Amino acid sequence: MSEEKKMQPPDWTGVERVLVIMAHPDDPDFSCAGTAIQMTAQGIAVTYMILTNGDKGNHNPLITRNQLILMRKEEQRAAAALSGVKDVLFMDEEDGFLRPTPEIRKRVCREIRRIRPQLIICSSPERYFSGNGYINHPDHRNAGLVAMEAIFPAADNPMFYPDMANEGYLPHKISQLYVSGHDDADVEVDVTDSIETKIRSILSHKSQFPEPEQMEKWLKERWGEKQEDGTLRHFERFKGLRFDRPRGRPTEEEKKEDEK
Ligand SMILES: [Zn+2]
Repeated sequence: MSEEKKMQPPDWTGVERVLVIMAHPDDPDFSCAGTAIQMTAQGIAVTYMILTNGDKGNHNPLITRNQLILMRKEEQRAAAALSGVKDVLFMDEEDGFLRPTPEIRKRVCREIRRIRPQLIICSSPERYFSGNGYINHPDHRNAGLVAMEAIFPAADNPMFYPDMANEGYLPHKISQLYVSGHDDADVEVDVTDSIETKIRSILSHKSQFPEPEQMEKWLKERWGEKQEDGTLRHFERFKGLRFDRPRGRPTEEEKKEDEK
């Protein structure tokens, strides 16, 4: 089976709120801004959660650590606004040292119970490298672990963090999980129509991209996929997991296929 045939279009039926959990400022913009743009255009409320403070993302000795943290927050808010994302949460873990600790799991779980998203997008905890010239940042892997460990077995289990009920944050089960940067991606969002805005959102991270013009050209060329008719299209792909179906039961679509 070819990669193409396996890909499914996204199904956002019943999705009203989405939470994107990523390691650094700019990670949501690279991995899923096109998807976020489409979601917010449909009236879906998207929240970005940035786990680290991004304090290592600078080589300019004139900028202090605290200045950089504030700068990167502002950049992330501006990028999110371009994509129609109104809420950005900063969890302020130290950049470069993110670990799936019990403490951060509880903090993320509290936000899941507060926001009650139907769909969460996170990075892949399995990606150590891509191609043969790029080691994946350990924070990206650990952000995936933090997100997944908060979702399961914690967020929907009342035995985890019963004290949160006192704050009004009750157990919550999400319906879908999108894992970005996964080799076994099976959900494909065509983001061709929003690629310009996506790139503008990436370039909002001015501290990271001192030469925006070059970057814009490079991103478009790097991501564009040539179609049979010669046009370029852009995609964001995810490994999709669903938790809204009884385990082991066929879906309605699968049943219809069987009846044929
Ligand atoms: Zn990153």
